[in-house]
Amino acid sequence: MQIAVITLFPEFIAAAMQVGVVGRAQERGQVDVQAMTPRDFASDARKTVDDRPYGGGPGMVLKVEPTRSALRAAKDKLPGSRCIYMGADGAPLTQAKVAELAVLPGLVLLAGRYEGVDERLLATEVDETISIGDYVLSGGELPALVLIDAVVRTLPGVLGDEESAQQDSFMTGLLDWPHYTRPEVLEGELEGLKVPEVLIGGNHEAIRRWRLQQALGRTWLRRPDLLAARVASGALTAEEQTLLAEFKAAHASEAG
Ligand code: SAM
Repeated sequence: MQIAVITLFPEFIAAAMQVGVVGRAQERGQVDVQAMTPRDFASDARKTVDDRPYGGGPGMVLKVEPTRSALRAAKDKLPGSRCIYMGADGAPLTQAKVAELAVLPGLVLLAGRYEGVDERLLATEVDETISIGDYVLSGGELPALVLIDAVVRTLPGVLGDEESAQQDSFMTGLLDWPHYTRPEVLEGELEGLKVPEVLIGGNHEAIRRWRLQQALGRTWLRRPDLLAARVASGALTAEEQTLLAEFKAAHASEAG
């Protein structure tokens, strides 16, 4: 997959692309992320990319011409790509959206700054606007990096263990189950906190059922909206209903 990020801070993107899962994927040629700046497309000597907002008020707005030239140059390099503006007023980024984007040949991501981008550019050059949450950041670079990370880790062959992405939160519409590793017994202030017996016993069917029950229970406790959506879509299996009922009963007796 090829990704271009249009940003006033290309070094921000380049630095983040050096590390972790995305860095390794770049080294292996599984993804190619390039940052381009509208400044390189500004026509005046001062390389102006922003101007004051019509109607007055604080802050600056990214100008159409240099940003449009940068976007078009990126689109020319990445035929068939989707152009996305990272904006707090966009549709929320979800795992379903990540899956939709991961099968595309390319993405052109526009990171805003200041008060944002001239609306006429968004109306004519951008396919969709995506938000990473109901809060406002200083720029679209972190949202672009969040989207890139979420997409790249789902690309075939990027994660060492293919299964690990499949088991992550949201992949099945549920949150992940709890994880434990060695040592089995901890000393000091965590003494007494036990690894659940079932995980040590080696009974794979019992482990599968425990994990599914924990995922259901966590989703019920922390994200009832996700569970309600699963119930409404009829996707909650008979086994899941039983496991969830058991979890709720155990939770009630612990609380009471
Ligand atoms: N005036 C804008 C508003 O109220 O929505 C906020 C502009 S913000 C200071 C500057 C840039 O950060 C935006 O143009 C956008 O690219 C990016 N940004 C901020 N919050 C974001 C979010 N939650 N999701 C995606 N992008 C965001």
